[in-house]
Amino acid sequence: MKREVVDRICKGIGYTLLGSFLYVCSGPCYAMYKSMNISSNMEGQNNREKTEEYYEEFEKERKSLEQRLRTDNDNEETIVETDIYVSESLKYFFDDKDNLNDNDDWARKVEKAVSGLDAFEDYGYDFRVRYVRVIPESIEKMGFKHITYYMAGREDTAEFNISLVPNPLQKYSFWERIQTDMVFGMAYVGHGYGMVYLDNNDSLNRHTLAHEAGHMLNLIHREENAFLTWFDPFYFGERGLMSQGNLNYSDYTLNETEIAIIGESKKRF
Ligand SMILES: [Zn+2]
Repeated sequence: MKREVVDRICKGIGYTLLGSFLYVCSGPCYAMYKSMNISSNMEGQNNREKTEEYYEEFEKERKSLEQRLRTDNDNEETIVETDIYVSESLKYFFDDKDNLNDNDDWARKVEKAVSGLDAFEDYGYDFRVRYVRVIPESIEKMGFKHITYYMAGREDTAEFNISLVPNPLQKYSFWERIQTDMVFGMAYVGHGYGMVYLDNNDSLNRHTLAHEAGHMLNLIHREENAFLTWFDPFYFGERGLMSQGNLNYSDYTLNETEIAIIGESKKRF
């Protein structure tokens, strides 16, 4: 009788341990699966020849993009002057030389990403795009810091400056990407400089841009979740725009503290 009870308890403990082990393992497996999907978004066409014609087209498309982004949404509460910087290699990344209809795809991708700024409309922000400027490829290659120096070095720098470039991780193999931190964007917390690595997923690009703008408005990560989001696939805790590794690209939620912080940040503008 006693032995049966002990046996049952041991079995119970065994199954619980096995279950927990499998549960925790499924977290990184799920993350790996997601990484594979994200990875495939990073494959550009990269097949246009950068002839004179290429740069002429780029310039025409940039001007038309600037016109489209300049539209005013008439929210007078807090206006933030914004400049968008685009890399010359975006067109190279997105253009398929065999499909003449997709020439300005890059500009449409930028437009969709920039619409991420609308996430702050409900909180009284109105980002007014003034210019779409060009980051030369030579500067782009040097990374986020140099792009920031480039933007900051202009005489009439805007209050918000966001650059969009192709993700350099596209040149890595899948395994190299798994071992490297996947970065989709960067920004200085509380300052007017941010960057987004554009890829083929419009929802991700838009979400990343909103997340980086959040940093620029003084928001920091909800770091306490970083471990759990990796190891617990069914993590039920609070997630939002500022969670790191939030793979739900339609989640733009801010908590009360974050809303108070961006409210306070209005004094800067
Ligand atoms: Zn972040």
